[in-house]
Amino acid sequence: MAQGDTELEARLEEQDEFEPSEEFVAQANVSDSDIYDEFEENWPVCWERAADLLDWDEEYDEVLDDSNPPFYEWFTGGELNACYNCVDRHVENGDKNRVAIKWEGEHGETRTYTYQDLYREVNEFAAALRDLGVEEDDVVTLYMPMVPELPIAMLACARIGAPHNVVFAGFSAEALATRMNAADSRFLVTCDGYYRRGDPLDHLDKTNEGLDSVDHGVDATVVVDRLGDDGFGHDLKGNQHDWDDLLDEQGGERVEPVERDAEDMLFLMYTSGTTGQPKGVKHTTGGYLSYATWTSHAVLDIEQEDTYWCSADIGWITGHSYIVYGPLALGSTTVMYEGTPDFPNRDRMWDIVEKYAVDIFYTAPTAIRAFMKWGSKYPASRDLSSLRLLGTVGEPINPRAWKWYYEHIGNEDCPVVDTWWQTETGGMMITTLPGVKNMKPGSAGPPLPGIDAQIVDTNGDEVKPGRAGYLTVNKPWPGMLRTLYNNDERYISEYWEEYSDTDSDDPDDWVYFPEDGAKVDEDDYITVLGRVDDVINVSGHRLGTMEIESAIVGVEGVAEAAVVGGNHEVKGEAVYAYVITEDGYEEGDDLRARIIEGVEDAIGPIARPEQVVFTPELPKTRSGKIMRRLLEDVANGAELGNTSTLRNPEIVGEIEAKVRAQS
Ligand code: ATP
Ligand code: MG
Repeated sequence: MAQGDTELEARLEEQDEFEPSEEFVAQANVSDSDIYDEFEENWPVCWERAADLLDWDEEYDEVLDDSNPPFYEWFTGGELNACYNCVDRHVENGDKNRVAIKWEGEHGETRTYTYQDLYREVNEFAAALRDLGVEEDDVVTLYMPMVPELPIAMLACARIGAPHNVVFAGFSAEALATRMNAADSRFLVTCDGYYRRGDPLDHLDKTNEGLDSVDHGVDATVVVDRLGDDGFGHDLKGNQHDWDDLLDEQGGERVEPVERDAEDMLFLMYTSGTTGQPKGVKHTTGGYLSYATWTSHAVLDIEQEDTYWCSADIGWITGHSYIVYGPLALGSTTVMYEGTPDFPNRDRMWDIVEKYAVDIFYTAPTAIRAFMKWGSKYPASRDLSSLRLLGTVGEPINPRAWKWYYEHIGNEDCPVVDTWWQTETGGMMITTLPGVKNMKPGSAGPPLPGIDAQIVDTNGDEVKPGRAGYLTVNKPWPGMLRTLYNNDERYISEYWEEYSDTDSDDPDDWVYFPEDGAKVDEDDYITVLGRVDDVINVSGHRLGTMEIESAIVGVEGVAEAAVVGGNHEVKGEAVYAYVITEDGYEEGDDLRARIIEGVEDAIGPIARPEQVVFTPELPKTRSGKIMRRLLEDVANGAELGNTSTLRNPEIVGEIEAKVRAQS
């Protein structure tokens, strides 16, 4: 590392607040700080500002109907079509030749869809779906990897008013069947396969296995041919159709977008299930689309001219809101990448940013930590000067990783938005407005305008700044889930019961509980500490695992850490830390001692790890979240829980052996 770099690192390490550049503020979509007050004073009418970003077929009568909490309705009486808003209106407005989707396959092949191309294919596929018997309100399951046919299918469903139910392609046959059964879905769009690290994967085989377990039978399956000659030679069965054949048959067919009620379901999305049984989150047409579009505009600062890249998978809510619906509703160019970040090389992401001159980049802390582990030479070898804004979502981001991202990807020029939200919230809830607020690494920021979030204790009373408590949301918002599919009871027990007076029909008595722990500072900046079930009780002290992890990742040489509680005779629970080292640093007693010191300095001796276990990987779900439950089993020498949703199940045995060797 050059001398100058070391000085820069030292300066960045000291700094805990960052201002957006004047240049950024001058061009930002939202730069007036009055917006917070305006929203508060005019609530809920303020939300017209979000709805105004869309074209409505029928004006709504009322912004919010809160007469039956927590079953809130937004923009009631309004009618619109999500596909029309994401496609047709741009074609009609003279932007038909603008690029809508830039797709890059793992092998480097590219496909470009203008809004006109998108319009044509979406119409043809919508017509094909109708011919296959799909009617308005039928749930269509999409079990597809990152190919352009996925957003095309989503938009085609939206066009004919058939809610989609996207199942992440990495999920198992069983997960597909569970979600199709739960959603009563008789139609499926899938793919023959896709590429991972250069090799073709057989996806249709897994699909067929899943279909065997769908209880109610399936009317039709559409199969995209992604692999061509690399395919596995499956013959399509009687009710299975080839995507290209279907489109050829339609040859330029057009389908009128169906006028959907604002409250009609746009899609279902089963949450990843990090915490148990998947929940069928229901999102609606008017509220969800307004909210995804508004936050894309205000937080991601997307303008029509922008090339924007969110590196998530469309199989997660992040991809729904911020690869497909938000950016396309705004008429910008959205980039889609099929493959992994280190194939064929560790500079793949930066290669894509350079090649397409990406303006805005949105990713997850787990990816940032991997980039950091690989080292800054990879981004340094590429021209990233097109970037204007960076974002992160999915987990708390440690200040050190935040600063690495800010420095090595953003060149200290791009604001970083750390966005807290959930599948259930539909869009971002807590983060800085990049043209208005300063950033504080490690803290997501204040609640967005119109969002009323508070940190409370177990009684629901607001806790003092600096103290850990429970995150709650006191007012509804347009992007919120409306219920859990076919399960109003679980909707209430899962999200509302904890802090609401469930007998009351006064909306003020209803409080949404996202099940995350958090703390707030004097400036109303919220640091989300993680799930409330990720708490360790050491000698009666409740310690958030995230806080300890953050302290460990703050130690030089540590790339990533996971902390869990293991049973302890005296303390009740003890802290177990699993640590991945940064490339170029050695595992061993020296680093172990520095880690323990780092935790003691940051939190106190009470949080001192009982064991520090070095490991090359951590068990992660397919969306990249650490599966702490399994690490807990390891710490306790208990029988291992279900590992079926893990991306790397083999690592658990390795970690187990190491823990046994150390204790
Ligand atoms: P499940 O609810 O099925 O167990 P999940 O909660 O992982 O799965 P998501 O809805 O994708 O599914 O993730 C939302 C959660 O991710 C939040 O509740 C929070 O715990 C975490 N999260 C997301 N963004 C942030 C962020 N910027 N800072 C801190 N935590 C975040
Ligand atoms: Mg969750």
